[in-house]
Amino acid sequence: MSVGYPIDLHTHSLRSDGAYEPTELIERAAARGVTIQALADHDTLAGAAEAIAAGERLGVRVIPSTELNTESQWGDVHVLGYFLDPADAALEDRLRWLRENRGRRIELMVEKLNALGYPVSLERVMAIAKGGSLGRPHLAQALFEAGHVASYDSAFDTLIAKGAEAYVQRIGLTPLEAVQLVVAHGGVPSLAHPFTVVGLEELMPQLVAAGLAGIETYYGSHPPTMTATCLALARRYDLVPTGGSDFHGRGDHGAPLGGTFVPPETIPALEARRGRRAAATMTTAVGGDS
Ligand SMILES: [Zn+2]
Ligand SMILES: [Zn+2]
Repeated sequence: MSVGYPIDLHTHSLRSDGAYEPTELIERAAARGVTIQALADHDTLAGAAEAIAAGERLGVRVIPSTELNTESQWGDVHVLGYFLDPADAALEDRLRWLRENRGRRIELMVEKLNALGYPVSLERVMAIAKGGSLGRPHLAQALFEAGHVASYDSAFDTLIAKGAEAYVQRIGLTPLEAVQLVVAHGGVPSLAHPFTVVGLEELMPQLVAAGLAGIETYYGSHPPTMTATCLALARRYDLVPTGGSDFHGRGDHGAPLGGTFVPPETIPALEARRGRRAAATMTTAVGGDS
């Protein structure tokens, strides 16, 4: 039964905020006709080995990947990193730092809220996050449940608003650092769902200078004109148009597995970018001897 398209370069498992174990995710993808799939859990490659093993059994080529969230004034900038090595210890060190900071920030905000007389428990916030990376939305829900704010939304305007007493600044990579991290570890970076970026046209040349190699062009919930915008940017900056479902396994986020058409030439084009930066750096280092 093939009801999906064969290539899906953006999926999530329970190793971050998806709903299925990596094996089940690959099984579900295979059942829909997916043959090439990137597992791109947020800030981790922890599911890669399991997904690859499942893929070998089911005829799905799994590309070990991650999706990096970043902190900046540019809106939501997420960077996909393809062809990363799950055994790269130095990369894992950086990813662990990102994961710990994200959880630690919410812990600090819980401590501040308790000190300010708005008791919430970290356990409850973690339960709301269902094992995913902790964020302010989970805290807002806990504050609403505890009756400290009139609504979920109002938490963001009051107790945990940017600059409020209980607010803690986010710590993390900038968009440029995220691109550079992927390149430094031999991966191929692509800008995820570009419609969430604020100031895309201005940010693009900076990301490209940092080593960006792709732009997520085929994406289910893009506004209609966004695919054309992305294709134009891909041509202007010599980027590979990538795409995927952003499947999480819950109804409220992403398309079904294999639910977004991605052209087959995407895979060789992405492979051609592997190590290109490293080679360019080496050429520079030897001073153009050839
Ligand atoms: Zn994302
Ligand atoms: Zn995603």
